[in-house]
Amino acid sequence: MSRKALLDIVAAEVVVCVKCPLSKSRKNAVPGEGNLNADIMLIGEAPGKSEDLEGRPFVGAAGKFLETLLAEIGLARKDVFIGNVVKCRPPRNREPRPMEIQTCTPYLERQIRTIQPKFIVTLGKYSTQHIFSKAGLPFNSITQARGKFYKTSILGLEMMIFPTFHPAASLYSAKYKQHLIKDFQLLGHELAKRENC
Ligand code: URA
Ligand code: SF4
Repeated sequence: MSRKALLDIVAAEVVVCVKCPLSKSRKNAVPGEGNLNADIMLIGEAPGKSEDLEGRPFVGAAGKFLETLLAEIGLARKDVFIGNVVKCRPPRNREPRPMEIQTCTPYLERQIRTIQPKFIVTLGKYSTQHIFSKAGLPFNSITQARGKFYKTSILGLEMMIFPTFHPAASLYSAKYKQHLIKDFQLLGHELAKRENC
């Protein structure tokens, strides 16, 4: 089956999913979207208010900043795949619960297996914690983990994991914003290095 067909099946299952309690409060589930042949997959935490209304990832204020960060390193949304650990908005944007993450992440794992990206950029604590656990890497805090490349294998696939802060953090802290800008520059350098060899 083609990548498109496999991802369409995941998306079709997600939009009608009632496997966890978040299905009760969501307006629209957000399966994720982007380039099916992307080398880079960006993984956020969970949909917020705008995403829940539109059924699309990172379309609110954090998403605007994410687009700016991507543009700085010559990338657009169409070049990458963007998804979330949890596909439905938690009420009042509370943090996702372990049971919700456990129930929902088989969808994300099918997306990763299908796209087979070379890089996974984890945005924020929950995304990093989940992907690190799949890679068997110890996770202490996003502050400690961020801004470094981890060459590893997840789901039987070799890849590079690059954790950074969640772009929403930039909306309330100039310090986080600077860290995000710096981390994306590092990612840009790494991508350029690979293209040149
Ligand atoms: N924050 C996330 O983690 N994901 C989105 O899709 C939007 C905001
Ligand atoms: Fe299903 Fe995930 Fe939505 Fe829960 S968060 S209802 S598991 S799609």
